[in-house]
Amino acid sequence: MFKVIFTDLDGTLLDERYRCDKALNVIGKLKELKIPIIFVSAKTRYEQEVFRKALGIDDPFVVEDGSAIYVPKGYFDNLKNFKRKIKYDKRNGYDTLILGVPFEEIRVAIEEVMRKFHVRCYSCMSVEEVAKVTGLSLDMAELAMRREFSEVIVEADERALELLGERFNVKVGGRFFHVYGKGANKGKAVRILTELYREKFGDVLTVGIGNSYTDLEMLKVVDVPALVRNRDGWIDVDFDVYRARGIATQGWIEVVKKFVLR
Ligand SMILES: [Mg+2]
Repeated sequence: MFKVIFTDLDGTLLDERYRCDKALNVIGKLKELKIPIIFVSAKTRYEQEVFRKALGIDDPFVVEDGSAIYVPKGYFDNLKNFKRKIKYDKRNGYDTLILGVPFEEIRVAIEEVMRKFHVRCYSCMSVEEVAKVTGLSLDMAELAMRREFSEVIVEADERALELLGERFNVKVGGRFFHVYGKGANKGKAVRILTELYREKFGDVLTVGIGNSYTDLEMLKVVDVPALVRNRDGWIDVDFDVYRARGIATQGWIEVVKKFVLR
């Protein structure tokens, strides 16, 4: 059966140092077998492109917590069925399905809230500051700040988050608050891609791998949901998931070997 892997990046495929060297062998095998590896992450397109290039992965990818699906041109010939239903855009060589809202809309709302309450977000910080709070290199911090559909809030008054929550999704990601369109979530994006793969290949087995609460919607819509371990254990879920013993990359390898490569 045709298999597809949907995977979170931070804390799942990538370890605390944002590396996945240990998984290179396994990724090589998946590529030989032409098994798609779909990144489904809060990371921006620009950040994900770095990993796609380094790992030689050419499959579609989901950015900024499900805000948009970037599909390399010509990857699906059935994409036109979705173009009618979802805001569709030809961005920089990709066919893009947009589920979220433009960054500007979020930025304007944050500025409004900032008149009364304390908010510290990526776009009000320097590259050096973002690098410091995330542990990213300066180059990667700069790419993390090029947001198209969401903003990251590092700290804020409770009330500011409540106000933003009236208009947008405000979710706790790995460490910070992610603000993005209410119409966007990782699960929705994964469902659309699954449908596209099923139209193209018929029977498809989907495997989803994540580590945090923002991954739950994705895990709920795949055939095989799996969690990798965080330093302090697994997140709580109220449905059946496979819990890998390994932390981050190590757990990722375990899941792929158990459900995809066996
Ligand atoms: Mg994560």
